[in-house]
Amino acid sequence: MKQTLCSVASNVEVMPGIHLMWIEAPNIACSVLPGQFITVRCGDFTLRRPFSVHQVSSREIALLLTVAGKGTLWLSQRQTSERIDILGPLGKGFSIEPESRNLLLVAGGIGIAPLVLLMQYASSQHQITLIHGASTAAQLYPSAMPKTGPSSAGKKRSKLSPLPKGVQFIPVTEDGSMGKKGMATDILPDFLDWADQVYACGPVDMYKAMAEMSLRAKRSNLKLTKCQVSLEVRMGCGFGACYGCTINTKKGLKQLCHDGPVFELDDIILQEVRI
Ligand SMILES: Cc1cc2nc3c(=O)[nH]c(=O)nc-3n(C[C@H](O)[C@H](O)[C@H](O)COP(=O)(O)OP(=O)(O)OC[C@H]3O[C@@H](n4cnc5c(N)ncnc54)[C@H](O)[C@@H]3O)c2cc1C
Repeated sequence: MKQTLCSVASNVEVMPGIHLMWIEAPNIACSVLPGQFITVRCGDFTLRRPFSVHQVSSREIALLLTVAGKGTLWLSQRQTSERIDILGPLGKGFSIEPESRNLLLVAGGIGIAPLVLLMQYASSQHQITLIHGASTAAQLYPSAMPKTGPSSAGKKRSKLSPLPKGVQFIPVTEDGSMGKKGMATDILPDFLDWADQVYACGPVDMYKAMAEMSLRAKRSNLKLTKCQVSLEVRMGCGFGACYGCTINTKKGLKQLCHDGPVFELDDIILQEVRI
C-alpha cells in the first residue's frame, strides 16, 4: 500500500454518468490483484473514496466510476494531466481455486468494475461467462456491445479494452432493450451446473437473490457452487485503522477494507449489511 500523487492519463464518460479514468500508477499496476481497490482523495473531503481497480496496463490503472455524489462528481471532472492523490492497492480480492476451470461472473450495473480485471487475469487459463445486468442497454458494458460505426459513442469506447477473447457475454436488461429481459439473477441458474466458481459484484438485493438460490440448492441436495462477492459499504480510512466499515459475518466481525471487500457469499449476514 502506497500513497501517491498520480497523473490522470484520460477521463471519458463511457456510459451515461459513468466515467472511465486511466491513471498513471505503475506501482499499483504491477501489484494489484483482481477485486482489490484504491482510495482517492476527492477535493476537500476528509474521507477518501474507494474504487475497485477496473483494468491495468503496464504503467496505468483504470477506474470505472459512477457519479453518485459530490466526491465522485469532483473526480469525474478531473482533466488529463491533473494530479490526484491515490492510496493502494488495498484489501483482499478474488481467489481462484487451482482445480476451477469454468468461471461464472455476475455483474449488477457498475458492479462490472472489478470483474473486468478478474477477466483480464483469468481469461487465458479459464473459460469465462459474464452475465451483466443493467436497467437499460445504455448502461451495459460498452466494449462488449457491437460497435455501430464511427459515432461519438464509438470513439468513447476506444478507451475501453474489448473483453478478452473467448469470454461469453450475456447481457440482461430490466427494460428488455438488449439481451434477455429481467435481472441477472433470473438466468444465473442456467449456468450453475457449468460453473466451478461464481464471482459477483452488484447491489445487496442481487446477493440476497443469490443467497436464496444457494439455500434452495442446499435444501434439495443440488450441486453448490462456491460464490465470492465484492461488498460495498461506506468506508472510513480504507486500511483497517478506524473500524468504520466493520460488518458482522458468520465468522465474526470483519473489516470490509482489510478482510474484504471480497467475501464468500455464504459467510455474509446480508440482512445486517448497510451502505
Ligand atoms: C470496496 C469498494 C469499491 C468500490 N468500487 C467502486 C467502483 O469501482 N466504481 C464506483 O463507481 N463506485 C465504487 N464504489 C462506491 C464508491 O466508493 C461510492 O459511490 C463513492 O464513495 C461515493 O462518494 P460520493 O462522495 O460521490 O457520494 P456521497 O455523497 O458520499 O454519497 C452519495 C450516494 O452514494 C452512496 N454511497 C456512498 N458510499 C458508498 C459506497 N461505499 N458504496 C455504495 N454506495 C455508496 C450513498 O449512500 C449516497 O446515496 C466502491 C465502494 C467500495 C466500498
